[in-house]
Amino acid sequence: MYILGIESSCDDTAAAVLKNDTVVANVLTSQDAVHTKFGGVVPELASRKHLESIHPVVEKALENARIKLTDVDLIAVTRGPGLLGSLLVGFSYAKALAHVTRIPLVGVDHMAGHILSIFLSANRPRFPYIALIVSGGTSAIYLAESFTSFTCLGRTRDDAAGEAFDKVAKLLGLPYPGGPHVSKKAGSGDPSAIKFPRSWLEDDSLDFSFSGLKTAVLNYVNKVKRQGQDLNLENICASFQEAVVDVLVSKTIFAARQYNTPRIVIGGGVSANGRLRESFTHRCDLEDLEFFAPDLNFCTDNGAMIGFAGRHVYEQSGKMELDLDAYSRSPLG
Ligand code: ATP
Ligand code: FE
Repeated sequence: MYILGIESSCDDTAAAVLKNDTVVANVLTSQDAVHTKFGGVVPELASRKHLESIHPVVEKALENARIKLTDVDLIAVTRGPGLLGSLLVGFSYAKALAHVTRIPLVGVDHMAGHILSIFLSANRPRFPYIALIVSGGTSAIYLAESFTSFTCLGRTRDDAAGEAFDKVAKLLGLPYPGGPHVSKKAGSGDPSAIKFPRSWLEDDSLDFSFSGLKTAVLNYVNKVKRQGQDLNLENICASFQEAVVDVLVSKTIFAARQYNTPRIVIGGGVSANGRLRESFTHRCDLEDLEFFAPDLNFCTDNGAMIGFAGRHVYEQSGKMELDLDAYSRSPLG
């Protein structure tokens, strides 16, 4: 079975072809160059870029997979959540393809894609598992019980983890998207140099809050500047990153304990972070939990995870009616 996966929820236009569970083509055009001068994604520009890229990206994916559109058995497309203007480009394109070719179409939740992206890597978990999904738009913990059953256990009440990385990068004068730049600087800094706050919220809460941490970094930077001293970017990045990682890892392990689930999976752009992976590996080892992290190219948004998730949606619920709409907020919580 050939599945064409299409993703356009934010600022990457992506398409992939899977032969059953195996990725045979994975194509992506990043819009980073368009948005970097604004220090974040500009929705109007994002949807325009998607319009330019969507057809060539899908064509390229089919070409790389050495198949024709008529060989495709199922089209899977991101239905939400995300920027509506961006989503609608991929969603409408996929609907049109399905209408013309009569290939069945399924709409896939973007978060489900991230929760299942671990299955695109060689080391695959069993169900149930706890999934920490951390990206520029979301930070949430899910209980995954099957390929189609996910319960949101906690989520951010303000900024997403990736958003915090991006905003801290911006205030330090580092390029967008900030995560990889902050992480690189952090590599040569001291994580215990500055005591930034950790927001734990209520004792048993699995929610996150990162806006206080972002403000603490801003206040620290302003204080150092007022004193006429030089900023040690490496130490700031390392201490900030440590505060984010500490909360993400502790809360995810707490969720695994609370729900008696001995497996942890991560996903989303921030799951590419080296320190996050290192800390999870170390602490899961101590706590006797299994830990799974996706290959780096499947951490950020991609069409392959949508194709993979889509196949399971199709097996469970059949094809989607073509009059359904995209949505900006996830029903998964
Ligand atoms: P959505 O939230 O809808 O999934 P997105 O475009 O933000 O959209 P991703 O592509 O999954 O989603 O993630 C991008 C985010 O990941 C950015 O905020 C980026 O800074 C962050 N990121 C990428 N690599 C790293 C890294 N090594 N360390 C920390 N953050 C990172
Ligand atoms: Fe994403």
